[in-house]
Amino acid sequence: MRKDVETRYIFVTGGVVSSLGKGIIASSIARLLLSRGYSVTCQKFDPYINIDPGTLNPYEHGECYVTIDGHEADLDLGHYERFTNIKTTRANNVTTGRVYQSVIDKERRGDYLGKTVQIIPHITDEIKRDVKLLGTTGKYDFVITEIGGTVGDIEALPFIEAIRQLRWELGRRCICVHLTYVPYISAAKELKTKPTQHSVKLLQQEGIQPDILVLRTEHKLPPTMLKKVAQFCNVSADAVVQSLDVPTIYEVPLKMHEQRLDNIILEKTGLKSDGEPDLDKWNDFLAKLKGAKQEVRIGLVGKYVALQDAYKSIDESLLHACAYHDRRLKLDYINSEHITEGNVEQLLAGHDGIVVAPGFGQRGIEGKFVALKWCREHDVPTFGICLGMQCMVIEFARNVLGLADANSTEMDAATTHNVIDLMEDQKTVTNLGGTMRLGGYACRVKPGTKVAEAYGKTDIEERHRHRFEFNDEYRERFEKAGMTIAGVNPESGLAEVVELTDHRWYIGTQYHPEYSSTVLNPHPLFMSFIDAIITNPPAVEPHAKPQSR
Ligand code: GLN
Repeated sequence: MRKDVETRYIFVTGGVVSSLGKGIIASSIARLLLSRGYSVTCQKFDPYINIDPGTLNPYEHGECYVTIDGHEADLDLGHYERFTNIKTTRANNVTTGRVYQSVIDKERRGDYLGKTVQIIPHITDEIKRDVKLLGTTGKYDFVITEIGGTVGDIEALPFIEAIRQLRWELGRRCICVHLTYVPYISAAKELKTKPTQHSVKLLQQEGIQPDILVLRTEHKLPPTMLKKVAQFCNVSADAVVQSLDVPTIYEVPLKMHEQRLDNIILEKTGLKSDGEPDLDKWNDFLAKLKGAKQEVRIGLVGKYVALQDAYKSIDESLLHACAYHDRRLKLDYINSEHITEGNVEQLLAGHDGIVVAPGFGQRGIEGKFVALKWCREHDVPTFGICLGMQCMVIEFARNVLGLADANSTEMDAATTHNVIDLMEDQKTVTNLGGTMRLGGYACRVKPGTKVAEAYGKTDIEERHRHRFEFNDEYRERFEKAGMTIAGVNPESGLAEVVELTDHRWYIGTQYHPEYSSTVLNPHPLFMSFIDAIITNPPAVEPHAKPQSR
C-alpha cells in the first residue's frame, strides 16, 4: 500500500437488467489501478439469504468458486483473481445471510445491550463493517465493492442504504460507479437511454448520486448521447463511458482506459491521474489471444452444459493456456447424460482433448465413464477434475482391474468395490453447507511423473471442494496396472492426483486447478495439457468431425 494514500472505496452497482458484467467492470477497474501501482482488492456483496453459494445449484448463479482459505464463493471472485492475480478470501464475499447470521449471533450474546435490533442501524452497520473490513487491514489503497443484483431490488436496499451512509462518512474517499444498459430497438433503429435515466433516478431516490456511469451497449454510442446521459443523470460530462461488447472480456480494461475511466476514478477520489498504467504483460497476453489462428478443440464433458457460467473457471483456464500456446480455443460442451457406448465415438472424436468436469450425484455419471473409457483407449489427452478424477479411477477399476461394480459410495453406497469412498472426517457431517473439504491443501508430487514435470516442482498447494476420496486400500492394484498416484497430501496421505504415465496426457486431479489460473499466471497443468496436445500429436489421427452439444 502507498504510504501517502488513505484507503479509497469504490462501489459498483448495476441497473436496468442483471448480467451486465458488473464483475468484469469491477475487475477491469482493479486491473487498471493495479497497473498504476496501487494495491487493490475486490469484494462482492450478494443480497441473497444463503450463507454462501456452496449449496446452490450451478443453474442458479453459475459456478461455485473456492477461495484459498476455503470459502465457497460467488463466481465473480474468480474474475477478480484472474484479472488481478491477487488471491481473495472469505472476507471478499458477503451475503445477506452472513450479515444476518452475524447480527443474530450478536443479539443472542447480548451484545446489543437490550436494544431493539433493526435493519437500520444494525444490519446496515454490519454491512458497513464488512465493507470496511479489508480496508482497515492497511493493505489496500482501493477496496472495490460490487453489489450483486440490480438497483431497485427490495433485497438490495440495506446494501444501498449502507453505501449512502458510507458516502457521508468517507467523503471523497468513496465513489459510486453505476453500470446500466442501453438497449437498441431494431424496429425503430434507435438506441434508448431512458432505462438508464430511470435506473439512475431510482438510485437517487435511494439517496445515492452516482459519480460515474458505465453504459453497456451492443452498438457504439455517439458522444452526443453520452453527453445527454451526463446532463440528465447529474453526472460530470467526462464521467459517462460506454462498455461496448468486445470479443474477449480481457479487452475491457483497455476499453475502459481508452475512455480514461482510471483517470476519472483517481481524480474523483482526490488522487493524481498523471502517467499511464503499465499494461505491457496484459497486452502481450491479449496479442497472443487475439493473434492465435490455429484451433485447439476441447470437449468439456459435464451435466451443466446449458448454462455458460457453470464451468466458468475451467473455460477461462483453458483459454489462458491456449493463448499462451498461440492457439485459439474451440470449446464444445458435451452433455454427459447423452453419452452412450453407441454415440461416444461420434460425440468425442475430432476433439484434441477432453476435460471431464467436477460435479455431484448420480445423474450423468455413466456417460462420464463411457467417455473416459473411450479417451483412455484412444489415448486422447484427458483432464479429469474432482468428480472427473474420481470417474477416471472408477472407469479404470471397472475396465482395467476387472472390478465390474467398482463405484464411488456417493453413487452406490452398497458397492463391493468402493474405490472412491467418503473421507473419514466426513462421516459424522450432517449439514451440507460449508462442510466439504474446502480450500488450499498441500500436495507432494511424485518425482518423474508427468504431473511433476508440469509443475516443475514437487511441493504444491491446490484448492479442494469434495467429500469423497480415492480409497487407499486399492492403491497397489491401481499402481501395478499403470495408474500412478502422482501426488498425495503430505499429512493425510490422501491421493490428490492420478495419471497414466504411458499415455499422451491422462491426468485426474482431486483438487480444482481451475480456481488458480490467472491471465498473468496460467496454471501449469492446463499449460501442460495444451502443450501435450500440440507437441505430442496422436499416432493415428482420430479425426472425424464431432457433433457439438
Ligand atoms: N461429488 C464429489 C465429492 O464430493 C466430487 C466433488 C466435485 O467434483 N467438486 O467428492
